[in-house]
Amino acid sequence: MKRIAPAVEVAGLADLVVALRDAAHLPGLLVYVAGELGDNATAEARPCGSAPLVGVGADLLDDHRSPELVGSVAHEIAHHALGHLSGWLVPALDWLYIWTCVAGIMSAFLPVPGWISPALLSLALAARLCVSWLRRAAEFAADRHAVALLDSLGMPGRQIVTAMLIRDLAVEPIWYAMVGWLAGTHPPAHARLRRLADAPSFTLHGLEVTS
Ligand SMILES: [Zn+2]
Repeated sequence: MKRIAPAVEVAGLADLVVALRDAAHLPGLLVYVAGELGDNATAEARPCGSAPLVGVGADLLDDHRSPELVGSVAHEIAHHALGHLSGWLVPALDWLYIWTCVAGIMSAFLPVPGWISPALLSLALAARLCVSWLRRAAEFAADRHAVALLDSLGMPGRQIVTAMLIRDLAVEPIWYAMVGWLAGTHPPAHARLRRLADAPSFTLHGLEVTS
């Protein structure tokens, strides 16, 4: 059943987004609430749109001060602030992965030397692993930057992002916790928690902050 978020929840979200957008020095930001996102959030960049996009799951709005909402929104805005959605390397490697996969499979049925198909499929696998590694590195960086953004607003950034990740830890499938570090585009929650705990301090716009 479709859920309409009460105005007070949306107003609380708007205040949070404006504060984080200013802290991230982003010129503009569009935020939408979507029921299908559940209790997740997402950062998007659309080719024809000018402003960065952040999608927020309607279930996160149950409490506009919860660590899950605040941490998730800060994390997605951090992706935009760090330019993770505007780089060329990940799309180029994605393109390489798809086309070397197609070429590797097709060459197995064509009259070409036998080493070509395994070589192309090996290249596809290497491209895929590189993309996954780059995306996992971006997640670690977004967690750290989210802490710095929240700290700059006088909020306990490390505690908020840690609480968000502990929520993820509780719902993460066991198989992903075991193999997500190699093949997944998101690091397992326990790995993100460990990285966050190991990081002594964060820097935002040249200002050293701790929480
Ligand atoms: Zn992320």
